[in-house]
Amino acid sequence: MIILFLLALYDGEITPENLIELERNRMQYPTLAELHDSMLSIAVNYPQIAKLDSIGESYEGRQILYLEISDQPGTDEGEAGLFFIGLHHGAEWTSVIVPLFFADSLVSAYGQDSMITWIVDNCRIWIMPCFNVDGYHFSHDLGNTSWRKNRRPYGGSIGIDINRNYSGGCSGSANDTWGGQPHPNTSHQPSNMFFCGPAAFSEYENQALFTFLDNQYINTGISYHCYGESVSRPWHWSMNPSPDSTLLTMLCDTIAYMITCQSGSGHYTSFQQSSWYQICGAWADFMYGYNRYVRGKPCYPFTIELGTSVAPDTIYLPQICRENFKALPYLAQCIDSVVSVTPRIVIAPEIGYQQSGNDYTVYWIPQTDVSVNFWRLWEMTGMNVVTDTFGTSNMRWNFSGFSPSTQQAHSGSYSILADYIDGYLAHATTKYPHLVEPGDTASFWTYYDLEPNGDVAFFEISTDGLVWQQLSRLTGYQPFWHNISHPLDEYEGKSIYFRFRLSTDGDNRYAGIYIDDFCPTVGYGSVNLSPPIPDTFQQFTNMPYGTYFYRAQGYNDQGPGIQSQLTRIDVPVAIAEEKANAIVNQSIYPTISRRFQPVDMNGAQIYNILGQKINNITKPGVYFIERNQKITKIVVID
Ligand SMILES: [Zn+2]
Repeated sequence: MIILFLLALYDGEITPENLIELERNRMQYPTLAELHDSMLSIAVNYPQIAKLDSIGESYEGRQILYLEISDQPGTDEGEAGLFFIGLHHGAEWTSVIVPLFFADSLVSAYGQDSMITWIVDNCRIWIMPCFNVDGYHFSHDLGNTSWRKNRRPYGGSIGIDINRNYSGGCSGSANDTWGGQPHPNTSHQPSNMFFCGPAAFSEYENQALFTFLDNQYINTGISYHCYGESVSRPWHWSMNPSPDSTLLTMLCDTIAYMITCQSGSGHYTSFQQSSWYQICGAWADFMYGYNRYVRGKPCYPFTIELGTSVAPDTIYLPQICRENFKALPYLAQCIDSVVSVTPRIVIAPEIGYQQSGNDYTVYWIPQTDVSVNFWRLWEMTGMNVVTDTFGTSNMRWNFSGFSPSTQQAHSGSYSILADYIDGYLAHATTKYPHLVEPGDTASFWTYYDLEPNGDVAFFEISTDGLVWQQLSRLTGYQPFWHNISHPLDEYEGKSIYFRFRLSTDGDNRYAGIYIDDFCPTVGYGSVNLSPPIPDTFQQFTNMPYGTYFYRAQGYNDQGPGIQSQLTRIDVPVAIAEEKANAIVNQSIYPTISRRFQPVDMNGAQIYNILGQKINNITKPGVYFIERNQKITKIVVID
């Protein structure tokens, strides 16, 4: 059904015949100030449908501006969201002109062209022509024409490739994450043109964009680069198809087929990005994966390599702009339908509980409107936290490329080692979530010998196993045991995973990295998965003394969804604390008056004078009985 729909759209002539002629001066490469002035002019001249705003400032303090074009700019009316972003890379000037042309065309054709009017009335379109403002200023305005990166100094060099600085595909695979080096087009050398930065989202520009994107629902978007006359789709990090590959491919193929090449014949090529080269931390992977796995909202992002050079002669710009404009009305018209039929996973619910003594109810609140077939509850007991000396069989970690070693050890005979596999990503990840308590600190010992900025190890933390935050970046020559520790205050009350990764480049093999005496490593005596639960709560009654951990997980046609955070429930000995207090607070002696009457013990819980639960009353004395959540003191005289 979808196939027919998309083909039908393509068969129709969706290019507006009467696109408004552009002002001539837009068909040149503007200075950053001229660009911003043009964007301001659009907002001033079309205030009903265009709004100028900034996502924040670049490293050098320049505003990163965008236009929102819609019939109610600034208002979320539940319309399809489209995002067009230009110039991640300073030298790729055409990628500024194309999104600016889009903004120009939309506002000037609004009310004149019925299709454009429909699009503006029924979609929310964000246009950010120049993301890397410092890089463009340096490349274009200051004449350093081949400059690619932003302008932040790091490690004795200047600039980070901000299309390598996103956190990754958020799919749960260690291989999808920022900083992996499966291809030379990602580097940890600050001087390299593909330097990915010291950590994911280390850059002001990427942080600002993350905040912006996280506050919108964007259904589709295109990031413009130069050059290559191609349209590509996620994944960029993996050769495997993405989960929505069929739909992504159809959209990608259709867009590519619409856009005629600069030569006047043939059309743009369409492919999965990784088939060109594999990198981690690119925009499209983040847009796709973060929205899919973390937010549960489908997003279809594409990358277009414009034209046949980074900054072609301006006489080619009208052709490039007009041809590429075709993607906008196409996506605007079909994206709602595509999103509506996109299978969604069940993202992590929020979990909580209500407790009364040794009875409690665990409940969870779905965070998406996707239909859920059933839920399951993981129950974990016998929690124990150890300093892992890696001496015994490691049931608490998932290893890939790390393995126990006796070559070096900080204590005992073993540590874990990842060594000298070129162009590889080794990782060790804790298997079970750990609920962070006040005062918790992560601590480990390490010994490493790594090619400086070529082979780099990371110590990372995550609350969901999807998005990881770096705590340590380790590289260079430190061949002696030393301790690294991080207070976990900001994670208090959250359940977390830890991960070590070693990303190696294609040359210079060194000894590698050893890790030992890691704490806290959590394990559980038992881990049980409940049968399917049709509702969003589960009741537990008369639970034995102990500490229980739960996390909930939804299942739908896509299989198991993302697990919730942990919730911890402590069942005290025999009687709940508040009941013990209630009993103690009752006066036991003296008994001023006595009213003797038979007591119905049916269904009652019985406690002795110390508040300890007992099965039967066998001797005269003072007891407490609990019925219907009411505690009554009784005196048994016979
Ligand atoms: Zn680029």
